[in-house]
Amino acid sequence: MLSVVIPIFNEEDVVESLHSRLLQVLIPIGESFEVIFVNDGSSDRSEAMLDAICNSDPRFKALHFSRNFGHQAAVTAGLRAVKCQCAVVMDADLQDPPEMIVQMMERWREGFQVVYAQKQRREGPNVFLRAAYYLYYRALRKLTDVEVPPDTGDFCLMDRKVVDLLNAMPERNRYVRGLRAWLGFRQTAIMFERPARAAGQTKYSLRRLIGLAADGVLSLSKAPLRLAIYMGFFVSVASFLLGVIFAIQQITGTSRAARGWASTIVVVLFLGGVQLICIGLIGEFIGRIYDEVKQRPLYVVARSTGL
Ligand code: UDP
Ligand code: MG
Repeated sequence: MLSVVIPIFNEEDVVESLHSRLLQVLIPIGESFEVIFVNDGSSDRSEAMLDAICNSDPRFKALHFSRNFGHQAAVTAGLRAVKCQCAVVMDADLQDPPEMIVQMMERWREGFQVVYAQKQRREGPNVFLRAAYYLYYRALRKLTDVEVPPDTGDFCLMDRKVVDLLNAMPERNRYVRGLRAWLGFRQTAIMFERPARAAGQTKYSLRRLIGLAADGVLSLSKAPLRLAIYMGFFVSVASFLLGVIFAIQQITGTSRAARGWASTIVVVLFLGGVQLICIGLIGEFIGRIYDEVKQRPLYVVARSTGL
């Protein structure tokens, strides 16, 4: 009936408590279930701990990546392995409380194909990051045609049909929460307060967070390309008007410019900057075309346990 997909990257500190919390929640539901751990190239004891769990209980399964391929690749791999009627994706660190699976299944039985968890309050270690999260999700909403609900992560329950469609999407830059929103169907939110990490450190460095944020915008929106066009247009018009003003000053004899040197330099530099920005934006998309054309596998599964 139910599959739970959990990406794991160096989570030795939480594997034990995750296992017991899952059993506490899943057994009383009274439905058959499977838990698929996707070990995203952990270098700590996670691998051995997961194998121990899987070997003692056939309901627990594990995929081990050959190296770290990233959170979104791990979620994708897990979803491709599920065999059940509905699938839950959740983090290993208990920031996504397993208890919510019960409510999610209720909503699913009511006929929703996607039930996602929405954070009630901003999380994040500092004010700066909290503000960044807040602004990012609002900006993403403005920039795309897809209704990406703000303040949601990958924690959700999806119907089999949605999982199959997600798995059939060929793209390589996978921003799972965006693809999920893109697919549509009947979606609903459950509000929750996201607790702190149960143990261990976050696996998302600032660099990776920015990468994920960029993936979100670039995979759902053409706004950055349009931005280049708007900026180019704005600057062209502005510099034309500037030229007119200079000409009028010259004619009326009110010009105080030192033989036009300053204005020339400013205009040239400004235009050069804008051109560079535009080239950068186009390059970003070309980079993605390159990624898609390469058709490289999204991940390499070294081996699997119990699958
Ligand atoms: N994770 C992963 N691969 C990575 C980074 C993270 O599989 O390269 C997993 C991690 O083990 C956790 C989930 O993704 O289960 C979310 O990571 P984390 O809790 O560190 O992110 P945060 O909650 O701080 O945004
Ligand atoms: Mg976390």
